[in-house]
Amino acid sequence: MEKQVVQQAREAFSTGRSRPLEFRVQQLKSLLRMITDRQGEIATALKQDINRSQYDTPLLELIGLENEISLAVSKLVKWAAPRPVERSLLTITDEVYIQPEPLGVVLIIGAWNYPWALTLQPLVGAIAAGNAAVIKPSELSEYSASLLKSLLPRYLDRELYPVVCGGVSVTQQLLCQRFDHIFYTGNSTVGRLVMEAAARHLTPVTLELGGKSPCYIDKNVDLRVACRRVTWGKFVNCGQTCIAPDYILCEPSIQNRLVEGIRQTLLEFYGPDPKSSPDYGRIINQRHFNRVMALLEGYTAALGGQSDSSQRYIAPTVVKDVPPHARLMQEEIFGPLLPIVTISDIDDAIHFINEREKPLALYVFSSNKKVIKQMLAETTSGGVTVNDVMMHYTLNSLPFGGVGQSGTGMYHGKHTFDKFSNMRACLVKSLGMEDVNIARYPPQNRQKARR
Ligand code: NAD
Repeated sequence: MEKQVVQQAREAFSTGRSRPLEFRVQQLKSLLRMITDRQGEIATALKQDINRSQYDTPLLELIGLENEISLAVSKLVKWAAPRPVERSLLTITDEVYIQPEPLGVVLIIGAWNYPWALTLQPLVGAIAAGNAAVIKPSELSEYSASLLKSLLPRYLDRELYPVVCGGVSVTQQLLCQRFDHIFYTGNSTVGRLVMEAAARHLTPVTLELGGKSPCYIDKNVDLRVACRRVTWGKFVNCGQTCIAPDYILCEPSIQNRLVEGIRQTLLEFYGPDPKSSPDYGRIINQRHFNRVMALLEGYTAALGGQSDSSQRYIAPTVVKDVPPHARLMQEEIFGPLLPIVTISDIDDAIHFINEREKPLALYVFSSNKKVIKQMLAETTSGGVTVNDVMMHYTLNSLPFGGVGQSGTGMYHGKHTFDKFSNMRACLVKSLGMEDVNIARYPPQNRQKARR
């Protein structure tokens, strides 16, 4: 079944119909129409999957997608045009350029936490670059997956862009097929499996993975503002955001004020009982609920800590004075638990960050430019936002992705178009001026040859 779908997509690609720019624009506009027309249904599916608030769905998932499509539509002619490059003396009269061309059939495997953005955003670039794409949404966000499967063929070419639903075995079957690129979003354990499967066909991969994204809060900062921004980024989508601040690093002197600031912000955002707030989400499934609750074992929460397994509800929770080697600090939390680890100064914070895997995102809050500069100069991560969280993700001019264990390959905007294109190196010579070529032809000893 999976084999047939891929074969069909390849046959459709071979007809060449995905290549003309007019076709790509028409498909992109149709995708945009789908998102606009079906916003209500999409919001309902997300409510069923993850109790996503109706307000957050456009903000977190759909507006970004619409921007991404509008950008691709308006820039496509420019992106797809030959890109002239510098010539050398030997090629001074030639045409030398890079021609972006489609790769062929790509596989997009999405994750469940933002099931629309994480599957359709790569798809925008795949269509813009002229490819066919097989889309595999996560089975965990099942309402979104089945809605996507029923909607997409009504708006897009159904052979070029099929949606395949199913669990791990379906993904494994898909991974046995040959693709021209695999774009995977999810955890790094499966990321390794994807890379192994891709290696069998020498297929290039983009891996959008996760990890622990640190958030350093300097004592020299407006704590009220910092607390609001961090609280939003950590607890939106119930903490299930790949670039959520995973933990806070701060000096002991501000720890209690931070906790108090977060408490006040939580009250402001979700009221005295977050469980009854329409703006507060739920954990995706029982397995993840158990996993997150197990991370909390043995701690006394400074804030929150309540849970209700029947609803997969975990209160926004803050834990103070977490030891650096505690279990909470070993794996990505991906839930509404915020550990605070105290460090002695900025050098200590940098050391702490650099001792661990390279993060997907890094956050720094400070009003001291020197502190910001030092933090940026002496650490690394896929992306950084200073004095806020997650906002670098929203700009399609910035490449988005990880580094090291947090992922490989960047996307968004033109970066996605480039990712799904073969940057063909083209040199077009005339048949004239043959004398210039004499120097490279044998025999090399020209004097001897002339004699
Ligand atoms: P998930 O469980 O939905 O898995 C993602 C995909 O992998 C699914 O389509 C699933 O079918 C497939 N899969 C799962 N197990 C597999 C196996 N054994 N073999 C083959 N395929 C398999 O999502 P997840 O991994 O729980 O997602 C959460 C992780 O994703 C977090 O680590 C998060 O940080 C990361 N993430 C990263 C980004 C990013 O843009 N970098 C975005 C969202 C999530």
